[in-house]
Amino acid sequence: MQQGNSKKKIVIVGGGFAGAYCAQALEKKLSTSEAEVVLLDRNNYFVFSPLLIEAGIGDVEPRHAVVSIRSFLRRTIFHMAEVERVDPVSRQVFYRLSGGADQHVIEYDHLVIASGSIPRMPDVPGLIEHAHPLKSLIDAVALRDRIIQLLEWADAVEDPQERQRLLHLVVVGANYTGVEAAGEFLAFMRRVARKFKNVQITDCRATLFELSDRILPTLDERLANYAARELSKHGTTIRLKESLSAIESDHCRTSTGERVETETVIWCAGIAPPPLVAASGLPTGPRGYIDCEKDFRVTGFDNLWAIGDCALNPDKQDQPYPPTAQHAVRMGPHLAANLAAVLRGGATRPFRFTMLGSLAALGGHRGVARIFGLDFSGWTAWFLWRTVYLLKMPGWGRRLRVAVDWTLDLFCSRDDVQLGVHQIRARQGNSAENQSSAEEF
Ligand SMILES: Cc1cc2nc3c(=O)[nH]c(=O)nc-3n(C[C@H](O)[C@H](O)[C@H](O)COP(=O)(O)OP(=O)(O)OC[C@H]3O[C@@H](n4cnc5c(N)ncnc54)[C@H](O)[C@@H]3O)c2cc1C
Repeated sequence: MQQGNSKKKIVIVGGGFAGAYCAQALEKKLSTSEAEVVLLDRNNYFVFSPLLIEAGIGDVEPRHAVVSIRSFLRRTIFHMAEVERVDPVSRQVFYRLSGGADQHVIEYDHLVIASGSIPRMPDVPGLIEHAHPLKSLIDAVALRDRIIQLLEWADAVEDPQERQRLLHLVVVGANYTGVEAAGEFLAFMRRVARKFKNVQITDCRATLFELSDRILPTLDERLANYAARELSKHGTTIRLKESLSAIESDHCRTSTGERVETETVIWCAGIAPPPLVAASGLPTGPRGYIDCEKDFRVTGFDNLWAIGDCALNPDKQDQPYPPTAQHAVRMGPHLAANLAAVLRGGATRPFRFTMLGSLAALGGHRGVARIFGLDFSGWTAWFLWRTVYLLKMPGWGRRLRVAVDWTLDLFCSRDDVQLGVHQIRARQGNSAENQSSAEEF
């Protein structure tokens, strides 16, 4: 599609880490006479996911853990819209404006798909109905509300076994999100529990299930062992080479058939491609992610590109880059440079990036970190975790707000009020597709 003379239309689907950074870089690299950029996202913000659990436990005000997409853009046209399908043959994107019924169509010269991922919800009976995913802002705040609800119930029951069942968190998946969820939500529960007369700190426990033979499988083994010891010391039981085979409202069953008493299962067992990929019939690898070349072109297309969690972006050895924000924020500007080169008749460059490090918070001001090959653990790693993510937060205004939240948290006791999100969630039911429900928050 050509507009007037040689001005091209670039459409980006998804304004998360990959898409928003891509749009921002395109504004710098291309003039208004070269391209018009349109960005579509179902929300007018993206979740700064490293702070999602902090928002859940109230260390950070939930609004401060999201970033306004418009704050990234000057010239880019933004529509808050649900994209239903893209047609790479007719070069069209089909979408509905948020809250609107009419379908709209936009044509493009180049299309960037950066629509992220959804939680992986395998076919486990009761999973959709009873488990809590941890992906959107509402997921995190609903979990906090639920923990307070559980403490209220536990405080009112006479039976100590029932109290322990209510206060038992089961977390499935022991990669970064699962480990942080077990550590931080349990630490939060124990801190708030001090305000409840009939609840002992030791009534509050967590069990972390992991299918592989160790937690944090991509982290150095020594650090992972440290994390396992710290979690165990503070009330989390780690069960390796096990998962869940069924979830009910008041208990779950392990893969060996054992009954585990719990009221709350937090599901952190991986991610899956967003439904848009299958709905659009795009070329995919075996697990359903968009198949791409090293310069981010979707295999078999000249003007279709995909980056971030939704794509299989191969590295030098043809292995897919891991789905992290660390990669997505670098993929966006790299793709912008490739698009600028293509529009000017130049050649694209393959993406190359080596991870700078990884960090995980374990709750109670402890953590593990590997940064530039150096290992840290305990309070130092937790402090580094906070410093790194504070500096990564886009915009000085947001950074200041988060820094103030953290400072106040050091001096104020933990809030034990519900925000009402748990009730909204209960009415809607839990589902991976429910991510857009974050709009209601
Ligand atoms: C709890 C948690 C903690 C994490 N912690 C870290 C961390 O510490 N460090 C790290 O590097 N990574 C972390 N990650 C991973 C990181 O969040 C992802 O890798 C990153 O968000 C991927 O960026 P993206 O742009 O591909 O997707 P996203 O950031 O998810 O953005 C995708 C965007 O597309 C939009 N979208 C999707 N489908 C549609 C549609 N059909 N129509 C309209 N809009 C649509 C969504 O609204 C969203 O804004 C964490 C993830 C989670 C869940």
